[in-house]
Amino acid sequence: MKLLRGKTAIITGGASPRGLGKAAAVMFAQHGCRVAILDLDADAADQAAADLPGAGHVGRACDVTNKESCEAIAADLVSAFGQIDILVNIAGITQPLKFMEIEPQNYDDVLDVNLRGTLYMSQALLPHMRDRKGGSIVNMSSVSAQRGGGIFGGPHYSAAKAGILGLTKAMAREVAPDGIRANAICPGFIATDITAGKLTNEMRAQVLDGIPMGRAGTAQDVAGCCLFLASDLSSYVTGSEVDVNGGSLI
Ligand code: NAD
Repeated sequence: MKLLRGKTAIITGGASPRGLGKAAAVMFAQHGCRVAILDLDADAADQAAADLPGAGHVGRACDVTNKESCEAIAADLVSAFGQIDILVNIAGITQPLKFMEIEPQNYDDVLDVNLRGTLYMSQALLPHMRDRKGGSIVNMSSVSAQRGGGIFGGPHYSAAKAGILGLTKAMAREVAPDGIRANAICPGFIATDITAGKLTNEMRAQVLDGIPMGRAGTAQDVAGCCLFLASDLSSYVTGSEVDVNGGSLI
């Protein structure tokens, strides 16, 4: 069964070859969705779109911290696709800093991409979704928001990802009467480029010890959750934070 047949989606931060955005894009395309991949580099976004199964996918350069750029790309894609049903805000960065190491620029950079980008891209598409009286927005938070940090993200990353939870719930409340749903995913330790090569064997053993399922997550584990939240299978789910963490918080 194709869960997204005839639907269209925008996925930000989707060009990283082993990343969560690319995996979601592949799964969406396998389920009949036409996908627009947005990322910083136009060639990388084009290539990621070209890799997807099926036809009609596009890649676009977009810096999600730039409001004008988000608005221009959203308008362009609404006109190219005719409709946008799904927005998945995945673009994110992290910095492994301790509390006292965070400089103002670090704080701005991490909050800008993760939190401001989620706001700007959602604002750019909401008028269109309101006109159509439907849509699903999926925002990428993190277990770092719930647990207060981790090996990869500093306190400013935790703050940004916790901000995404608040933003998602407030957005979900406001747009529910318009038929639009908004949910957040909190991945645990997922093996992608953001985590690759950053663990010593000792750190890795320590991380795995805290995961009842005893393994790192895969990008496909998170993509499956994106698919659920994007599709009508989750038609009565909004304002939720969904854990994809192998039981890390049990
Ligand atoms: P990744 O680094 O592989 O991919 C992130 C993508 O975002 C990259 O392609 C990057 O170019 C893009 N990006 C960065 N800044 C951007 C900007 N200003 N505008 C547009 N695109 C931009 O990371 P990933 O592991 O795939 O993580 C994806 C998301 O999931 C991030 O928000 C991350 O914080 C979150 N997350 C990841 C994990 C994990 O363990 N991998 C865990 C929890 C949450």
